[in-house]
Amino acid sequence: MSFSSLGLSDALLKAVSKQGYETPSPIQQKAIPVILEGKDVLASAQTGTGKTAGFTLPILQRLSMGQRLRHRPIRALILTPTRELAAQVYDNVKAYSIFLDIKSTVIFGGVNQNPQVAAIRQGIDVLVATPGRLLDLHNQRELSLSNVEVLVLDEADRMLDMGFLRDIKKIMALLPSKRQNLLFSATFSKDIKALANDILHHPVQVEATPENTTVEAISQKVYRVDKARKTGLLIKLINDGQWEQVLVFTRTKHGANNLTKKLIGNNISALAIHGNKTQAARTKALDSFKKGTIRVLVATDIAARGLDIPLLPHVVNFEIPNISEDYVHRIGRTGRAGASGEAVSLVSADETAFLRDIEKLVGLRIPAAVVEGFEPDPDASTDPVKPQQNRQRQQKQHRQPTDSNNENSKEGNPKRRRNRNRYRRG
Ligand code: AMP
Repeated sequence: MSFSSLGLSDALLKAVSKQGYETPSPIQQKAIPVILEGKDVLASAQTGTGKTAGFTLPILQRLSMGQRLRHRPIRALILTPTRELAAQVYDNVKAYSIFLDIKSTVIFGGVNQNPQVAAIRQGIDVLVATPGRLLDLHNQRELSLSNVEVLVLDEADRMLDMGFLRDIKKIMALLPSKRQNLLFSATFSKDIKALANDILHHPVQVEATPENTTVEAISQKVYRVDKARKTGLLIKLINDGQWEQVLVFTRTKHGANNLTKKLIGNNISALAIHGNKTQAARTKALDSFKKGTIRVLVATDIAARGLDIPLLPHVVNFEIPNISEDYVHRIGRTGRAGASGEAVSLVSADETAFLRDIEKLVGLRIPAAVVEGFEPDPDASTDPVKPQQNRQRQQKQHRQPTDSNNENSKEGNPKRRRNRNRYRRG
């Protein structure tokens, strides 16, 4: 199958070929024709499947064929849970629209709003946004959503995890009722299904075929090890394997900082990326990692969400997540676009129950091994780390981008955070 057989215009085919893509990925093959027909779509796809081009290409085609008003109102709105993902989606929109007369911009919290407002005032066709900043600017009457023809909820599961449901509902109320809706999600909880029911109109369901799901394309391994010796084992794995680009996940921001320090102390260049880092620091860390200036990027789940790091060879779960779906998201950073990837989890006795949950979710027994010299204490307690406590800590972390000290930023507003917590528990 080729891109040209999907019904895309020459301008888009040229842009795709400029990106070096030869064949459409499975999600693109399925989603593009349906979106071109104007239908609502419920898509099951995670980062790494080519989902962004899967919705961006047909949207751009529909917009470029549609009627254009002189003042260029926003006609496509793409909502993402995090700033990083918003920036990446925007990069995609720009890249695919270079041969079209389509203008786009991106808005997210934690940074000065003035340049964003200035871009919107010039008139744009496609807006990529995180929910908080979008509502802020709408409340300030800096943008109107009354001409939106297409809405995309990207990584909808993560938006709900981060407590954005209220914001999403508010945003829905600002959109014209006649519009096309596309919902992309890696996982399908009851909450996501309820949201899809609310928003989508006779949706066509599309999914990446199982052979191409990241989980199956990735070689997964578990190393059993005592908690206190995980750092030593990680250093050994990095050194012995001569790993040059490793993404390591920790459960907490504090854990990420600590581990980063220890790696640097052992001559392994590393930077941490988490919600307490400023946007500038996160961007710098990600750039250094992509360029290969640092070997290890230590990240918490939320900070790493949706990061586009092509051909990432190694992902390490320094602590395995107690929310099983996060495991799928984490290891989705590797093995993309057909490249081989390895996901290693360092599992201590108290994480055994979480590991079982993950194995149930991925439908796979992940091979476990022990590294010589790092044999775990056979008598170590298997009592799990308290999930509730961790969950709360993690949720707090999810909605604690302290770089949005900006009063206007809803993502950074403690009252809103409390409200989101209340909603989740309800
Ligand atoms: P996504 O799942 O949208 O985050 O895309 C993952 C990566 O795959 C990005 O680096 C894209 O540039 C790349 N990509 C998207 N579509 C294709 C394709 N058809 N062929 C090769 N690479 C692609």
